[in-house]
Amino acid sequence: MPNARRRSATAPIPAAHDALHTAIAERTPKLVSRRRHFHRRPELSYEERETAATIAAHLRTLGLDVTKDVGGGHGVVGLLGGTATGAAAGPTLMVRADIDALPITEHSGVEYASRRPGAMHACGHDGHIAIAMTLAEVLAARRDRLRGSVKFVFQPAEERAAGAEPMVAAGVLRDVDAVIGLHLWSQVPVGEIAVRPGAFFAGADELHLRVRGRGGHGAEPHLTVDPVVVTAQIVTALQTLVSREINPLHSAVITFGMIHGGTAGNVVADEVELKGTLRTYDSADRDYLLRRIGELACGVATSLRAEAICEPGMSCPACVNDEQVAALVRRAAEATVGAEHVVGERRFSVSDDMARFLQEAPGCYFVVGAGNVARGITAPHHNASFDLDEASLPIGVEVLARAALEFLA
Ligand SMILES: [Zn+2]
Ligand SMILES: [Zn+2]
Repeated sequence: MPNARRRSATAPIPAAHDALHTAIAERTPKLVSRRRHFHRRPELSYEERETAATIAAHLRTLGLDVTKDVGGGHGVVGLLGGTATGAAAGPTLMVRADIDALPITEHSGVEYASRRPGAMHACGHDGHIAIAMTLAEVLAARRDRLRGSVKFVFQPAEERAAGAEPMVAAGVLRDVDAVIGLHLWSQVPVGEIAVRPGAFFAGADELHLRVRGRGGHGAEPHLTVDPVVVTAQIVTALQTLVSREINPLHSAVITFGMIHGGTAGNVVADEVELKGTLRTYDSADRDYLLRRIGELACGVATSLRAEAICEPGMSCPACVNDEQVAALVRRAAEATVGAEHVVGERRFSVSDDMARFLQEAPGCYFVVGAGNVARGITAPHHNASFDLDEASLPIGVEVLARAALEFLA
């Protein structure tokens, strides 16, 4: 702690009126209208066709080298080569923005609300697109200061945790030296930034269990194996894993949000199906818990004459930030909003498939506050009333720009 305090005391003073800040401020009306453009026209995961076309056209007008349909979906990659001496041999920084919307009908009441019933940018990815497009403008105008390249990666299908992996497989990270990206967050006040080394967003694993018994008459339970009773024991037993088997200084979550079984009150079911989610910050905890969930469920079922079958589900690793890249982002954040507005400890129990990029290259994912209690902007992400305080948008551009300019100086 004394060290941390000393570092904050000597942290750079926000460069409130330097040329970069002014250039971004001048572009802010356009940045906001760009965000609203995408907000009105949300496209669901795997359907981001128009969004990708608009992004690609913008990057081409800036003179970037653009590739579409990267990874088989609607991924867009734009490469901005610097022109500073030695740029050709310099490093490459990747900036990632996710672009998909959610299957929600908007009830925010804002003037720029979604025009498409059943689709809404309720996670702020519209803001991420607008920030990255504006960042490309700002950095393209500063090519002569870049001793290396910036690779802009616009990733589809984040809400299905399925868009990053095919882009990695398509070689997006080839020649990339570091990866940065941000998530706007309505539960963090605008003007604050959260960034830390190590685990930042949790890893998520879908849990899918089937408990098989033997059905029969509800009045003759001795002739059946009741999977409902077995399931009740399994759910209770699994709750002891986090509390009794995981280091209390770590954290993890096991939630079963769905149990389906049976057809009538006087019928013992043949089978019960459970779906849940596991959240962890540490890959060893994740591997341990996945193994123990299977062992415990099968052990309880067997001891009660039933059978438990664990089926693999969707999995997204934790977002783990590199120490040096997180320090770079932290300096950029402190220069943008002031050291007193940069939060260094907070982690988030949500997941993001930015994790796939961070597994392959050193990088940093960070959160830019976008909530505002005084203005009533408090709805959580994935809610039909979700909105962003748009003052967060230029902050996001500035942090990314400062980090890129320092990395490629
Ligand atoms: Zn989301
Ligand atoms: Zn999101």
